[in-house]
Amino acid sequence: MFPSDSVLRFAPSPNGELHLGHAYSALINHAMARALGGTFLLRHEDIDTARCTPAFERQVEEDLAFLGLSWDEQPRRQSEHMHDYAAALEALAAEDLVYPAFMSRGEIKAHVERFEEEEGRAWPRDPDGAPLYPGLDRHASTKEREKRMSEGARFAWRLDVERAIEMVPALTWEEHGASPIGESGTIVARPLEWGDVVLGRMDIPTSYQLSVVVDDAIQGVTDVVRGRDLFYATSIQRLLQALLGLPQPRYHHHELILGADGRKLSKSARDTSLRSLREAGLTAEDIRRMVGLPGRPGGLGEAAAVRPRGSSARR
Ligand code: GLU
Repeated sequence: MFPSDSVLRFAPSPNGELHLGHAYSALINHAMARALGGTFLLRHEDIDTARCTPAFERQVEEDLAFLGLSWDEQPRRQSEHMHDYAAALEALAAEDLVYPAFMSRGEIKAHVERFEEEEGRAWPRDPDGAPLYPGLDRHASTKEREKRMSEGARFAWRLDVERAIEMVPALTWEEHGASPIGESGTIVARPLEWGDVVLGRMDIPTSYQLSVVVDDAIQGVTDVVRGRDLFYATSIQRLLQALLGLPQPRYHHHELILGADGRKLSKSARDTSLRSLREAGLTAEDIRRMVGLPGRPGGLGEAAAVRPRGSSARR
């Protein structure tokens, strides 16, 4: 079903404590990699150097070891590979696909409020609920851009998504898991829903969206297994893969582990952090049971839980 050169990764950001949702994701990534005879990688997504710390990174590794998981190569630390992302950003800039966007968060908010008040209708929002970038500076002249930059104006590099989609054919991906509303199989990417996403900042030549596709390609990731909260982001990631000529992995968006209140777990809620559960005396077996994965590490329970579409396993 999958080639034995399968490469899977667990890619948390070391900016807080891992929780049960991370445990679930790491466990099924690991089980799937082992069941396929493939490779399981750990990647520290630490481009946000202000919030990511070596202490959280160590804790990620301790938590995974506690769960009985081992990874096959030295973990990749994104902060050590900024040149890879800068090169990708430059390749997009060379095609005129990114522009310096000067509107601050406050200015975007004010623009959106004014529009909604004057027009009496809602400003479009991305799948995460954030207003789309108004793009007033999308077509500014080189002279204007240089002037603002030399004045020290703050900006972010944003993708000109409308121009970008003209450069590539209609994009799809193979979904072996499901979207939040149950879509599966061949999914049509809808990158326009995200508007002009940020691909780089003044001080960091990348963003989550850019570095994740660059790294998945560099690391040869064949199967992206992650939570359903990232299902819609796949549209932008497919677009970036196509623009940069990168291979497309298969995707498996798994269900999220929700808190007792039915909401998504957060890194700041200490009660479901793996560390506090570990310190309270719970074992790896207990954690596996709590996330609905009974059985031994790497045992059949998990492989069945992640078996792709078309198989006879219960999903
Ligand atoms: N670093 C991302 C997160 O912690 C996950 C990236 C991915 O799996 O694509 O949410």
